[in-house]
Amino acid sequence: MELEVIGSCETIRANNVICLARTYRKHAEELGNPVPEKPVVFLKPNSSLMTDGMEIGIPPGSGEVHHEVELAVVIKKGGRRIPVERALEYVMGYAVILDITARDIQSELKSKGLPWTYAKGWDTFGPISKVMPMERIPDPNDLNIKLTVNGEVRQDSNTSFMMYSIPEIISFISGFMTLQRGDVIATGTPEGVGPLVAGDRTFAEIEGVGTLENSVVQG
Ligand code: MG
Repeated sequence: MELEVIGSCETIRANNVICLARTYRKHAEELGNPVPEKPVVFLKPNSSLMTDGMEIGIPPGSGEVHHEVELAVVIKKGGRRIPVERALEYVMGYAVILDITARDIQSELKSKGLPWTYAKGWDTFGPISKVMPMERIPDPNDLNIKLTVNGEVRQDSNTSFMMYSIPEIISFISGFMTLQRGDVIATGTPEGVGPLVAGDRTFAEIEGVGTLENSVVQG
């Protein structure tokens, strides 16, 4: 999928979608997960991405699909073993992403020690906004992040509660896998995750970065 960059006629093709989990302490606690020393990392297929305004499909066979609003970092150029001090040179910009999760499926996979792809990788499970150029976001670790469902506030936090800085995250990931142009890093969700049902309308907003509005249908 081509991601639009605000204020530019340029687009950037989304490549790997690298997701972090348990990066906000209160969210780890609400799901009863230990807070790890390093972020938990998993991949979502880039086929799960879709744009603002499209429909999130609840998979047949899942009774509990959750929203997770997250700050996404879009990578401009490739690199490996990127030092923290230089990490922001690799950033094209930031976006709002929903890491939609079939929580019932994920819980079953977790209990068996199995990978999460079948809970996280469904088509439509990665709505993402346009990309706000990084120059316009002086501090990505100080942004209000909020999600409402049908106008009701479900998640309302600030990226300052993330336990790692964006440069630390980029340095950590590039330390074990080469980052490539177009990679999207979903930096994890704050507390307040909860279920979506067909007919719901989600509205996500990250201060200065943008908004993302989607509806939910039975897939
Ligand atoms: Mg997530």
